[in-house]
Amino acid sequence: MPKMIDVTGEVFGRLTAIEPIKQRGKKEIYWRCQCSCGKLTLVMAQNLREGKIQSCGCYKAERVSTRLSVHRHSRIGAAQKPSPEYKAWCAMRDRCNRQNHIAYKNYGGRGIKVCSEWEASFTAFLAHIGPKPTPAHTVDRINVDGNYAPGNVRWATRKEQAANKRLRI
Ligand SMILES: [Zn+2]
Repeated sequence: MPKMIDVTGEVFGRLTAIEPIKQRGKKEIYWRCQCSCGKLTLVMAQNLREGKIQSCGCYKAERVSTRLSVHRHSRIGAAQKPSPEYKAWCAMRDRCNRQNHIAYKNYGGRGIKVCSEWEASFTAFLAHIGPKPTPAHTVDRINVDGNYAPGNVRWATRKEQAANKRLRI
């Protein structure tokens, strides 16, 4: 029988060791652990000490679901089209960066830029602007001479955008 190291009450990631469990027919010692999400789980002592297992499984599940939700926006395939938010992000960068874009002269050509954070990260852009409310909404700049940057963008309908421009004449 392997030597048991008492880790009662010690915390490993999200897990707190409660009591050692010797399972019949198994050499290894397991620890009954309480996860911070509330679940109880059995973890092999060695995996616990080496930090290989740090939750009941909820941590990994959360990470996978975050990754999937980011991935969902950009996946281009037979079954799934890119999301409206992802398309808006691509179009915004195109207008500012691609000189042969039909609207470049009104955007990149006038010095309108996408801030470096959003240029590099769709996720950062999405986190700031949020989901597109309806198909009629497009990315609007609150100050029409300002960049695509935090504090200067919102989803707006064509009507709202026209009103915004008129106010500034
Ligand atoms: Zn958990």
